[in-house]
Amino acid sequence: MHYENYETKKRILDKIKEYGRILIFRHKRPDGDATGSTKGLQRILKLTYPEKEILLQNCDFADYMAFLGGEDELIPDEKYADALGIVIDTGTEERISNRKFSLCKELIKIDHHINIAPYGDLMWVEEERSSACEMIADFYATFKDELKIDTEAATYIYCGMVTDSGRFRFRSVSGDTMRLGGMLLDLNIDVDTLYANLYMKEFNTFKFESYAYGKMQITENGVAYLHVTKEMQEEFGLSQEDASASVSLMDSIKNSLIWLAFIDNDDGSIRVRLRSRFVTINCIGEKYSGGGHACAAGATVYSVEEMNSLIADADARLKEYKENNEGWL
Ligand code: AMP
Repeated sequence: MHYENYETKKRILDKIKEYGRILIFRHKRPDGDATGSTKGLQRILKLTYPEKEILLQNCDFADYMAFLGGEDELIPDEKYADALGIVIDTGTEERISNRKFSLCKELIKIDHHINIAPYGDLMWVEEERSSACEMIADFYATFKDELKIDTEAATYIYCGMVTDSGRFRFRSVSGDTMRLGGMLLDLNIDVDTLYANLYMKEFNTFKFESYAYGKMQITENGVAYLHVTKEMQEEFGLSQEDASASVSLMDSIKNSLIWLAFIDNDDGSIRVRLRSRFVTINCIGEKYSGGGHACAAGATVYSVEEMNSLIADADARLKEYKENNEGWL
């Protein structure tokens, strides 16, 4: 299982060996996969090459991933010039959190998103992987005679695999996912603590959720949607992350194969989270300044009119899908 793209992975390992300073980047508004994959690779490289400087250089953080621990301070610009940059879990250059990534001497892209915008001097992209963390686990497994790992690294990586695969539920989960997950579990991950950290919510969040159930709507052809306005966020004391998590409240409504959460941003724009089962929706995300995976995409709209237009597009997409396909739920 470890021989697919072996040459590319080998070239990445050779590059890592070549450099004394390696800077690891990820996307803005990081999730469990972006956080876990970068911290996991950093830990593996630190254990294996204690003489090298391996730093996470990112500009924003996810509060709900804070339990995985802190990250490194940003270093001065001049320290980038002789560094190797590795960007993980980030489909496009625009989404890289730290804009100084381009100062690195060489850049490697490791990603599992659809490769619509290639970048970097060396790319390892496997679109069918359930998470970037799965790729980091595979990278370790491929070179396990050379690389070192421990429980801490395994926990970071497993955390990203669990979160990005919907707890091993999405169709991107393969036998490889489970084999690599099993390899990590064998390293004594404390799953009780991990899942407690992933599932615990403030009491107020439950109150918001009961309110949100009352607010969600469904279009004629079955697109479920919810607009989490600034007022709602203030009333329930929601962080951006709490508000954004509301998309999952709509994930199991029968006949609603597409569901959308609109979350007001501070700058007046509206973040869109698009989700679906069976039907692909990244084309809708791409139309509204976004993109992503077939069944999980993101976008941004700038007015309620544009929001309604996106809902109408999703409704038309679902109508067409239902007319031409059978067996969906
Ligand atoms: P999210 O709803 O933010 O979790 O995004 C779902 C998926 O779509 C993730 O895999 C993101 O990487 C991707 N995505 C989100 N926003 C964008 C964007 N503006 N451009 C491209 N891809 C995006």
